[in-house]
Amino acid sequence: MIGRYSKTCPYCGKEFTTDVEHKKYCSEAHKTYDYRRRRLEQATEKICPKCGRPWTEPEISKNHTKPSYCRYCQQYFADHHRQKVQ
Ligand SMILES: [Zn+2]
Ligand SMILES: [Zn+2]
Repeated sequence: MIGRYSKTCPYCGKEFTTDVEHKKYCSEAHKTYDYRRRRLEQATEKICPKCGRPWTEPEISKNHTKPSYCRYCQQYFADHHRQKVQ
């Protein structure tokens, strides 16, 4: 089957044809993979403002505030705080 529009899949670079004008990917799977890949790239592009290391996705705290430091710094501050209290 040959569609009206000739497209190139941004994920695998394969050329394909479709009748859906806004379709971008050769398959639903590649749409999902590309979305995941881009999300991963965005996550690793960040730099922690505290230690300057590449951003390691911090765990979301219990009150759902967005953490401002990487996982290592979060752990560091948590340990530091605990030592002060004791
Ligand atoms: Zn593809
Ligand atoms: Zn850090």
